[in-house]
Amino acid sequence: MRLAFEKMDLNLQHTFRISRGAEDVARNVRVVLEDGEVKGIGECAPSEFYGQNQETVAEALEAMAPLISDKDPFEIEEIISSLVKQFPHNLAAVSGVDIALHDLVAKKLGVPLYRLFGLSKETTPLTSFTIGIDTVEKMMEKVKEARLYPVLKLKVGFENDLKAVAAIRRQTDATIRVDANCAWSVEEAISKIHALSEYGIEFVEQPIEPGDPDALRKVRENVPLPIISDESSVVPEDVPKLFGCVDGINIKLSKCGGLRQALKMIHTAKSGGLKVMLGCMIESSISVTAAAHLSPLADWADLDGNLLIKDDPFRGVTVKEGKLILPDAPGLGITPR
Ligand code: MG
Repeated sequence: MRLAFEKMDLNLQHTFRISRGAEDVARNVRVVLEDGEVKGIGECAPSEFYGQNQETVAEALEAMAPLISDKDPFEIEEIISSLVKQFPHNLAAVSGVDIALHDLVAKKLGVPLYRLFGLSKETTPLTSFTIGIDTVEKMMEKVKEARLYPVLKLKVGFENDLKAVAAIRRQTDATIRVDANCAWSVEEAISKIHALSEYGIEFVEQPIEPGDPDALRKVRENVPLPIISDESSVVPEDVPKLFGCVDGINIKLSKCGGLRQALKMIHTAKSGGLKVMLGCMIESSISVTAAAHLSPLADWADLDGNLLIKDDPFRGVTVKEGKLILPDAPGLGITPR
């Protein structure tokens, strides 16, 4: 197998602001694995929050190429477990290789990826559409633009967040989730979430910093809304620590190291009574489509990274009235735009 990669900058439609920062361009990396006549494609979406960027991903991929050159692509489990052990600080790079391997193998078998996982495309969930932090007026404008999406995820954890949520609740009947991206202390979280519960919120994502499951448990036990972890649930080993501390976990391919790792997290979460959300970074249709192929296993999806960029180089999963519609071509089923 030959591994090649190329940097891929994705321009956002609007500056994307969350509680800890903002971005206009997502600097991702596209991965191609070639085995004989067949090519598999993957994508890495590195995150500074997890100590990665385009350069560290490129270095890791450079180092991975000789390690997998003589491997049988069907040994996905073996290849990915070994890369996860060798590159634990660059799981975004592992994820790109994992997605490309799955695309390659499913293409060789002539089946769409969801069928390789034994899933039905009828049971995909609705995806939410994310509204980044802005002035209350601008957030309301973005909600108006997003009227075709029945589920919204509002980024919170800023001064006027309660005002914004109240105004948007008056504006729309959509299901509303909120994501604080670690912005609050335990006490702040408890008081903010009580206030938010007035507005018919479905759940609250990552109210506090990661690293202290008991603090999440304390928040959960003192508020009337479900709590979902994101920054606290990075890899499979994190999941059992969260049993009883949250209601569900948000899994992202770039965070955990790809589809194999995500599958492990999904089954571990379910065995401990946790619900599962599948999320994404700002990504093209390559990795959003990869995650969508697993989405029949998820209770909730937040797979809108490709909808927030203006120059998606690929076409793959589509969204109809919020529902994820999987392509039927072999592999990921993506095509260049
Ligand atoms: Mg989140």
